[in-house]
Amino acid sequence: MKHESYLTHLECGLTGKRYDADRLQNLSTAGRPLLARYDLARAARAVNRDDLAHREETLWRYAELLPVRDPQNRISLGEGCTPLLRARALGAEVGHETLYIKDESNNPTGSFKARGLALAVSRARELGALAVSVPSAGNAAGATAAYAARAGLPAHVFMPRDVPELFVHECRALGAEVRLIDGLIHDCGRIAAEEIAKNDGRFDLSTLKEPYRLEGKKTLGYELAEQLQWTLPDVAIYPTGGGTGLVGMWKAFEEMEALGWIDAKRPRMISVQSEGCAPIVRAFERGEEFAELWEGARTIADGLRVPVAVGDFLILHAIRESGGCAVSVSDESMREEVYRIGRTEGIFAAPEGGATLAALRKLKGAGTIAPEESVVLFNTGSGIKYHHIID
Ligand SMILES: *Cc1c(COP(=O)(O)O)cnc(C)c1O
Repeated sequence: MKHESYLTHLECGLTGKRYDADRLQNLSTAGRPLLARYDLARAARAVNRDDLAHREETLWRYAELLPVRDPQNRISLGEGCTPLLRARALGAEVGHETLYIKDESNNPTGSFKARGLALAVSRARELGALAVSVPSAGNAAGATAAYAARAGLPAHVFMPRDVPELFVHECRALGAEVRLIDGLIHDCGRIAAEEIAKNDGRFDLSTLKEPYRLEGKKTLGYELAEQLQWTLPDVAIYPTGGGTGLVGMWKAFEEMEALGWIDAKRPRMISVQSEGCAPIVRAFERGEEFAELWEGARTIADGLRVPVAVGDFLILHAIRESGGCAVSVSDESMREEVYRIGRTEGIFAAPEGGATLAALRKLKGAGTIAPEESVVLFNTGSGIKYHHIID
């Protein structure tokens, strides 16, 4: 088989207990995320990092380190391999020389959710799911709808009733059944779970409640290293909701070091949230291992409107291990920075992308990020579906 997966088993992210990777699994018995593990020693012998350059320009170029067993089960819309753009004009304006934007707006359905859902849907179908279900603040629903359509699986998406209408249109156009819920994403999750209990064969793709969205998101880390000639930046600034991108990259760095592809140097991982919903920032500042639910969550950055994250301890662990921090920024500053990124670099960023620039400026002001450090901002989605926030 071409570029076979070296997946071996799953492991509880909290207790380390082993689970079978080749059946559908959600959370561990401890109620925590399951992490995919690979035979990295064998993978290291099979894959030479320099050969990757000749492979297809999607995240499937890392197939040995991804969980899908049969190449026929790779459901792809061309996700991943997004540009890492040097932001010179923006850097000059904010006084930062070595600045990059990893522009995820180029992904199918316009956000980096495509990475996670490509893997989760592929693997769900491979393991026999008959339908998929997801609670979402917006972008995950669109990506689920798209990949489920391509996989030939029915999709059921649950979003807050006040989600921007383009997310709803998108899901309907992609053939998903849309349910609008009075509440936030965790309320959507509760109702989605009740429906799953009533419908045999319907599989839950909630963030970090199945193991493979994380595997898709970790390819951000592989790409970053490959695009920087197998080095990593000094600082990575990531807008955090459920945290899969941050936790995924951290996992990718560990895997790549074990593969002998990178050395032990890691970026400081900076988690950005909105002042209106900052459970990770609050837990980080209090020195806590887990994050309490944030009451009354409000922000224009739908991807950050996540009051409680099942992977909280993994996010906090990665931030602390890396010597990074968590910081909140105002919605107003996100909106301003969306304009600044657009005007200087020609990228129409999502407010979540604007948040990363707001965080950079705040941390430069505080002296936490030095002017000579290399920084990557993650623009996790396109601004197009948030047209309502632009005056
Ligand atoms: C979902 C989302 C986020 C947050 O991603 P997590 O993996 O949940 O932390 C950030 N930005 C955008 C545009 C999103 O859709």
